[in-house]
Amino acid sequence: MSPRIVFKAGSNGAFLYAEHLHDPMLCRIIAIAAETAPPLRSDVLVVTEGWRRARQGGKRDLHARFKAVDFRTGVESPLMEGAVLASPNSRIGRFRAAKLWSERMAERLGSDCDIVFGPPKHIDHIHAEHDPIGGRNA
Ligand SMILES: [Zn+2]
Repeated sequence: MSPRIVFKAGSNGAFLYAEHLHDPMLCRIIAIAAETAPPLRSDVLVVTEGWRRARQGGKRDLHARFKAVDFRTGVESPLMEGAVLASPNSRIGRFRAAKLWSERMAERLGSDCDIVFGPPKHIDHIHAEHDPIGGRNA
């Protein structure tokens, strides 16, 4: 069975709204993230970001449009719930496991979704967005 799915709590947690759930592809993103995940600490998939306010003067942000979510990898924070459990459980081991996870997600979700993992900003989480137009808006 795939991991239990939780949403990060608190005022800086993952905000999920009905608008997210009205997008079948966003629901699919979350399901596929769980189904393709490597072993995760506590067998929990943690959504770390949902909706957020668009940044002033920033580029198009699909979080603000209910079209993007982030998933914890824990590459830099291996003791947190939901962190990837790699073998060996070193930083590079976790990085490789998370990279492969992001590639499995991208393959399953197809071209209507953008999956972003890698330096500099996307190490401790994988960004996933429903963006049929294309381009990365992490
Ligand atoms: Zn994101």
